[in-house]
Amino acid sequence: MTYRSLPKVELHLHFEGAAPPEFIRQLAHEKKVDLSKIFNSDGTYAYRDFDHFLEVYEGATSVLKSPEDFARLCTAVAEQSAQHGVVYTELFISPDFCGGSDVSAWREYLAAIKEGADKAEAQHGITIKGVATCIRHFGPEMAKQSALCAAETVGDFLTGFGMGGAEMMHRPSDFAYSFDMAREAGLQLTCHAGEWGGPDMVADTINDLRVERIGHGINAIKDRALVDRIAAAGIVLEVCPGSNVFLNASGDLKDHPIKALRDAGVKVTVSTDDPPFFQTTMTKEYEDLAAAFGWDETDFNALNQTALDAAFCDAATKDKIAKRLETTK
Ligand SMILES: [Zn+2]
Repeated sequence: MTYRSLPKVELHLHFEGAAPPEFIRQLAHEKKVDLSKIFNSDGTYAYRDFDHFLEVYEGATSVLKSPEDFARLCTAVAEQSAQHGVVYTELFISPDFCGGSDVSAWREYLAAIKEGADKAEAQHGITIKGVATCIRHFGPEMAKQSALCAAETVGDFLTGFGMGGAEMMHRPSDFAYSFDMAREAGLQLTCHAGEWGGPDMVADTINDLRVERIGHGINAIKDRALVDRIAAAGIVLEVCPGSNVFLNASGDLKDHPIKALRDAGVKVTVSTDDPPFFQTTMTKEYEDLAAAFGWDETDFNALNQTALDAAFCDAATKDKIAKRLETTK
């Protein structure tokens, strides 16, 4: 067993943020868009600092336009994940970027993305589900449009609803309407909180949006009573250690809260967030965690089981993925 081949479940992966640089270069070439300034000479994404990172991200995603582009992106992302042993992943897909939050346009994008996912499953043996994600800094009204898109397309592929974007804008209660709509439509819920915000943001997110999972959630560690509450309630954290270190949301990995949260009984999982932009992969996350905390295959198998239990998919899919995880035990 290597950490690359170990079968993995990933719950927190932003669709456009996972775009492999070679895929974006190819798409830019086809569309005759000059993106040379966002790449290093070795073909990776280039950045000098955080502002430049945003520019690179914007440049890379600017070539993604049509449903066909997103279908191809889905296959490319799935191939990249499968190369690192991922057997099940959930993609955060924004209706704002796929059809401008118009329900009928979103339907078309989603159908194309599902086709890409089906192709990837056939080719690479990786199962993909979609989590429609509203963008917090676009505000509560736009979020309602995204929630409506999600509610209208809930099904075998689209199983969840969530929120990403600038965490310090608005309060969770501003988005309660959207999360209620998504819940009533049968979608399972997650929301970014406690990456930049404090324990109060995590607590408000749990109270006001009634989510089953929290994206990041690492700042919960600053409030012991909240940590105990999260552990007792079985709320699952989608922790992205490499992203936190890269963006300075935490200190060095050896000081990362994932260990203390896990030791306190919180259900933690490991994901990459926007891997090529944060210079990480699932293999690297596992290798780095093993080096920082001495975690071994038994620990990672337990983390993957936690992730599978918390996955937004039906029992038949969970049984199928459980068998894939069994292969290393
Ligand atoms: Zn994220």
